[in-house]
Amino acid sequence: MSDLLVRGGTVVTVDPGFRVVADGAVAVRDGLVVWVGPAAESGAWVGPGTEVLDVRGGAILPGINDSHVHAAMLGAYWPQLWMDSMAAGGGLPTPRELETEAERRGAIERAQDVLLSYGITSCTEPGLGPGADGQHGGACGAAVLDTYVSLAREGALRVRVSALRLFGELDGPSTLEAVAAGLSSEDPAAGCDPRWFNILGLKIFADGIPPMRNAYMSEPYPGDGGGRGELLTEGGEAGLRAMILAGHRAGGQVAVHATGDRAIDIVVDAFAEAMAADGRDDAGHYVIHGDCASPCTLERMAQHGIGLNAQPVIQQATAGMLAAALGDERAAQAFAFGTARAAGVPLRLSSDAPVVAPDWRASIAAAATRADPAQRLTVAEGIKAYTIDAAHQDGAADWKGSIEPGKVADLCILSTDPFAIPPTDLPAADITYTLVDGTVAFKAV
Ligand SMILES: [Zn+2]
Repeated sequence: MSDLLVRGGTVVTVDPGFRVVADGAVAVRDGLVVWVGPAAESGAWVGPGTEVLDVRGGAILPGINDSHVHAAMLGAYWPQLWMDSMAAGGGLPTPRELETEAERRGAIERAQDVLLSYGITSCTEPGLGPGADGQHGGACGAAVLDTYVSLAREGALRVRVSALRLFGELDGPSTLEAVAAGLSSEDPAAGCDPRWFNILGLKIFADGIPPMRNAYMSEPYPGDGGGRGELLTEGGEAGLRAMILAGHRAGGQVAVHATGDRAIDIVVDAFAEAMAADGRDDAGHYVIHGDCASPCTLERMAQHGIGLNAQPVIQQATAGMLAAALGDERAAQAFAFGTARAAGVPLRLSSDAPVVAPDWRASIAAAATRADPAQRLTVAEGIKAYTIDAAHQDGAADWKGSIEPGKVADLCILSTDPFAIPPTDLPAADITYTLVDGTVAFKAV
């Protein structure tokens, strides 16, 4: 018997065989999936106490995991998005100032409403800590981390959050001294239910971004001014390597914003060296963005199990700026998602909201419709990158990321079967329900 039976759509399980069950059903008990199969065979799971949720013709997907979204910052800016504001000729929009606990809670609540409306049940806050206190209204500062911990202890979070700690500035410099001091401080999430709030490790910014010509490259930028960009870390390459080693030795995950080919090379080298030194080769370290990773670096990432966290909508929106900064030929080699997939790099897709909206449908559509067919991902690969592969990034693939018995009943219900429409139509498919822990957390009106 089950508490809840969700039926009336195609179940996309994202299990190891990527089983898709037409006219399927999912039985839930105590917040966990207990059975998945054809609706016609679900009778044994339905009793007098079973609630039946008929989703009427759509698709039942695992809850979406946006594996790189600045959620509290999204809440501070929403409904403003950076890319929209910049495209309209303005600079960055102005965030709400999060000075009080009530303001911080308000931003997180707003962000959770937005994320749930997109079917997102898990997210990664990629960088919270004292270095960012003065930036973006304090939305990535140390106090926000404390607010998350309080909400988690109260059982008040509605979206599962994994966080990385940041001891330098957001998109700015950092020092080994601050990183080392931060890593030796207490884990603020101790005592939280790790299925709701979990600190996974350390975030480091290695460099800037190619359109600003401050990504760290092996070859000079074309045109006047030239230069190869530079690292943001104090002490340059040695400083960056030492920070990565310190993060690894602290026992967690290290995730590094690196976009220039040279910056990515250094990061991958340092990851491999740190893992080889103590044999902890399942550390789950990953490169964030990775715009200009070379094919040879992607091979090394695959070999060492180093992940790549990439944002197809940003790739799509900034393609012109990238070509202006690097020239057409080098720009065409960037964001090599297809090469990464073919090499076997653990690939996760994400939004980086509030840069753009946390819309995974647009993200998968962008990846599936790349001009260069060799760099396209399929819709199925996109869904995996937003569910089970993202759960692997969280070290949580044993309990979330797919619809399988024993896993949490986090579900995203789409109005349309994503495999029955062209990828260009995916963004128009509605999210009708979002379930977290077997409970409806969002319902379209
Ligand atoms: Zn980011």
